[in-house]
Amino acid sequence: MAAAMNRPSPPVTRFAPSPNGPLHLGHALSAIVAHDLAKSGGGRFLLRIEDIDGPRSRPELADEFRRDLAWLGLEWEEVPAQSTRIATYAAAAETLRARGLIYPCTCTRSEIEAAGARPGLEGLIYPGTCKHRGLDLARPAAWRLDSARALAETGPLAWEDDLAGTQAVDLSGLGDVVLVRKDLPASYHLAVTLDDAADGVTLVTRGADLFAASHVHRTLQALLGLPVPRWHHHALLTDETGQKLAKRRGSPALAERRLAGEDGRMLAEQLRLRHLRLGT
Ligand code: GLU
Repeated sequence: MAAAMNRPSPPVTRFAPSPNGPLHLGHALSAIVAHDLAKSGGGRFLLRIEDIDGPRSRPELADEFRRDLAWLGLEWEEVPAQSTRIATYAAAAETLRARGLIYPCTCTRSEIEAAGARPGLEGLIYPGTCKHRGLDLARPAAWRLDSARALAETGPLAWEDDLAGTQAVDLSGLGDVVLVRKDLPASYHLAVTLDDAADGVTLVTRGADLFAASHVHRTLQALLGLPVPRWHHHALLTDETGQKLAKRRGSPALAERRLAGEDGRMLAEQLRLRHLRLGT
């Protein structure tokens, strides 16, 4: 009985692509890592379409993503897309607002640059211009996390990454990130944290480029009383010049390779080997 209780429960992982461009090799690796970690532990691998990028979101790409994943030989369970969960995001945002943990910000990017914002881990660190201003109803407002107040409320926090080990939450490299966009009652940070909790994800797998974001997500879990998963940030694939493979640098889309008749399962095996060589 005691042994059974100590056994870790089978992991629930997910792949959460945004349909604002085709999937490329880096996405394939993320999906394969999440899939394999779930399957090798007897767990579940989920697909969630993160389609709240407004005009950048192209719903027709979601079908292409499903075809790509099947072509790679992956099996998944699909959970509701983000666009179906807007009411949940709005409710959480309202909770944070009522507790004074987020504040409205009407700054444009150029105003933030002009205010001398310094670069952080995810773009510029917001210099706090709107922090004590109150809501200006004449201008559209985003809502930012009051990171100092949030951490004063939660006290010290930590999170566990399978590869990087225990991380003490530190928001200084990110600052007061946007949790509610001007056009939507959520941002990536709020939506993904709520969704991972709602979907029962216990092991958040994604590329190391999103490592810093996990400090924000862990903070939100503490503020909103959500379950705390483990994380697995895998190394990114790079091209011959050592640059991260990204769609904007013209790395071939999976759909192109699929339609050209390439064997997807073979490609998945090659990516697994390359990933093993990266040691992550
Ligand atoms: N939707 C995000 C993206 O496509 C990934 C979110 C995540 O894995 O946390 O970049």
